[in-house]
Amino acid sequence: MTRSFIPPVRTLMGPGPSDVNPRILEALSRPTVGHLDSAFVGLMDEIKQLLQFAFKTNNALTMPISAPGSAGMESCFVNLLEPGDKVIVCQNGVFGGRMKENVERCGATAVMVQDDWGKPVDVQKVEEALKANPDAKVLAFVHAETSTGVRSDAKTLCALAKQHDCLTIVDTVTSLGGIELDIDGWGADAVYSGSQKCLSCVPGISPVTFSEKAVEVIKNRTHKVQSWFLDMDLVMGYWGGGVKRAYHHTAPVNALYALHESLVILEEEGLQNAWDRHALNHKALVAGLEAMGLSLPVDPKYRLPQLNLVTIPEGVDDAKVRGLLMEKYSLEIGAGLGALAGKAWRIGLMGFGANQKNVLFCLGALEAVLLEVGADIQAGAAVKAANTIYG
Ligand SMILES: *Cc1c(COP(=O)(O)O)cnc(C)c1O
Repeated sequence: MTRSFIPPVRTLMGPGPSDVNPRILEALSRPTVGHLDSAFVGLMDEIKQLLQFAFKTNNALTMPISAPGSAGMESCFVNLLEPGDKVIVCQNGVFGGRMKENVERCGATAVMVQDDWGKPVDVQKVEEALKANPDAKVLAFVHAETSTGVRSDAKTLCALAKQHDCLTIVDTVTSLGGIELDIDGWGADAVYSGSQKCLSCVPGISPVTFSEKAVEVIKNRTHKVQSWFLDMDLVMGYWGGGVKRAYHHTAPVNALYALHESLVILEEEGLQNAWDRHALNHKALVAGLEAMGLSLPVDPKYRLPQLNLVTIPEGVDDAKVRGLLMEKYSLEIGAGLGALAGKAWRIGLMGFGANQKNVLFCLGALEAVLLEVGADIQAGAAVKAANTIYG
């Protein structure tokens, strides 16, 4: 007889999912109601308002897509693009490459602006690309590149796009709740995020928001959106229909209880406090890593507090270290992706997991494992250095 699945208890300090707040797990286990129940409709309205708060936007079309961040990404591309359109896509890591895939699958053309992995999107290059392609409809970029731990200048990129009469698609999957995000202040047009990074919610939900201008473009499409499920016009019949909500798909009712709880927690803390907490814990983690003799390759000006890229010391076996962290301490850190595979680790400090306990635990465990594999590091200094930051 197959038995119930009882997952091990881990500490998740990779690129996501992050440690889920127990309050959110508790919310998830509340009784399921119908997806058209009047009590549920009230919850949906609150989720929309809470997402407007989290994104800092008044956009009426702000809601969660019933699928992971990748579906939020796809919803932005399939709704704004039509065959023959041209999009300037910035790539400085894994996720810019997925944007290109999305553009091409819409029958549109991607003009790539490439930057090295570990560097932010080069504003100068984007300006040149906008000048060279006056017919571009959309500028697409990733605000917080989770594959490298780099923040790009979303405010400047959105302003540039506006000057050139271009819409923007912005990936904020890893930024929402972790670093400053100001959708209306930036004037971003189509923005998607994820539940399992700095919101510390369970995976599988993707908050999105569309500006009035983006909604206008969607309303005036000449081709039907090729995805029935992600067609915002149809989805809005359910999410935007007020009391006259019509069935489109069955909302993931319990996952939305969880999302609601994660946003209530964010509202209780306050956006600025949440951003400051991520920054403080990042500072302590970096102090500890550097005291140990490890280095972070990303320029401090562009570092994401919630995703720390750490150079693997010469001669140290990447997989062995991560394996020992998991086996001995049930601690998950992220491997390097693409060009950074085997060369760097990614240590996440996301949402609920961005706290002193996790920082000190991670430093202590990493130090013990590195000493075990014979790495040439400074012993006994990391936790002390991190604690200096906490004061
Ligand atoms: C995690 C992530 C995604 C994809 O989200 P999923 O929930 O895994 O589909 C997209 N973009 C960025 C920047 C991410 O970090």
